[in-house]
Amino acid sequence: NSPARKLLITGGAGFIGSAVVRTLLASTAHQVLNVDKLTYAGNLNSLPGATESPRYRFAQQDITDQAAMSLLLQEFQPDIVMHLAAESHVDRSIDGPNEFIQTNIVGTYNLLEACRGYWQGLSQEHQARFRFHHVSTDEVYGDLEGDEDLFRETTAYAPSSPYSASKAASDHLVRAWQRTFGLPTVITNCSNNYGPYHFPEKLIPHIILNALQGKSLPVYGDGAQVRDWLYVEDHARALIEVATRGEVGQTYNIGGHNEKRNIEVVETLCALLDELASAERPAQITSYRELITFVKDRPGHDRRYAIDASKIQRELGWVPQETFESGIRKTVEWYLLNRRWWQDVLNGNYKLNRLGNT
Ligand code: NAD
Repeated sequence: NSPARKLLITGGAGFIGSAVVRTLLASTAHQVLNVDKLTYAGNLNSLPGATESPRYRFAQQDITDQAAMSLLLQEFQPDIVMHLAAESHVDRSIDGPNEFIQTNIVGTYNLLEACRGYWQGLSQEHQARFRFHHVSTDEVYGDLEGDEDLFRETTAYAPSSPYSASKAASDHLVRAWQRTFGLPTVITNCSNNYGPYHFPEKLIPHIILNALQGKSLPVYGDGAQVRDWLYVEDHARALIEVATRGEVGQTYNIGGHNEKRNIEVVETLCALLDELASAERPAQITSYRELITFVKDRPGHDRRYAIDASKIQRELGWVPQETFESGIRKTVEWYLLNRRWWQDVLNGNYKLNRLGNT
């Protein structure tokens, strides 16, 4: 157990950021300042009970505003900045890359500059324990050719989409701020996450919610794209380990050793829904599988991602607690039990929860 620290989390109202905040509040003594612009992907309903904690504060703020970020840093005096705020949806980055360039590249640059100024003004002792942790994706590595290959921390960057290119750019900026200015940074690159509070535009919640509404279940191309799936709470624990115990200047890959073809994921979801939600199945079908439809593939779609997560296991002792089978069952059960959360997302009411400003 590490001593109580102050963590400024950017993007703490998003899918992964909210899991990090929930874990920090439930399982550690750390203080949290959640800084989030609350774009369409930010949802304060994903942080039930957080505002009641004396260890939690929220500030609605855009990370691209360097002066405002400097002020927040001065006020809060964090020991650790965990940077998760980003535009994160590949399809949206193809339809309109601008926000991805602004938030992921310009935003990370402005945050790094605000942190550099803050860090330079700290006492030596505070400087020594300060960390800037950039939360990134395995998509920066592009895709894998052979079935046996894995992404390692040393794999060359070859991003395919505007999203992954913007994350690759921000990783490079973070490394440059460490090498050139001495800012103490760590980077993590993680595989696809899934679990509770996932915004319905992403594959797994999209399939679950479409099925529950009797709509078709779209699968890109032939569905043979392979992704390495990690339960979001396992990722949150890994991030907290790296932010508090990771070695400065290091990169850690995080993955679940759960390589699945997209079609297998969709079929697994259908089987679980047949078991757990048969009462809601439309009368004219005998399995949710019958709702699957193959749609035109995404341009530039990577075929296979798979992570070698042995470094974080060896150096920090992190291993995932969920298998794909246990995590996906928990996820389906969560969506069946938490209808209010996703109904509010689908009808837009989640945007009404904009309270909790500092
Ligand atoms: P998300 O889209 O669910 O959440 C992003 C959050 O950032 C939202 O709350 C949004 O309001 C906030 N945000 C966006 N622009 C902002 C800005 N300019 N200023 C302040 N806040 C802003 O994303 P996620 O899936 O939780 O991903 C979090 C991070 O993890 C991202 O950096 C992403 O690249 C990375 N990542 C995601 C996955 C995944 O499978 N989802 C995997 C690996 C890495």
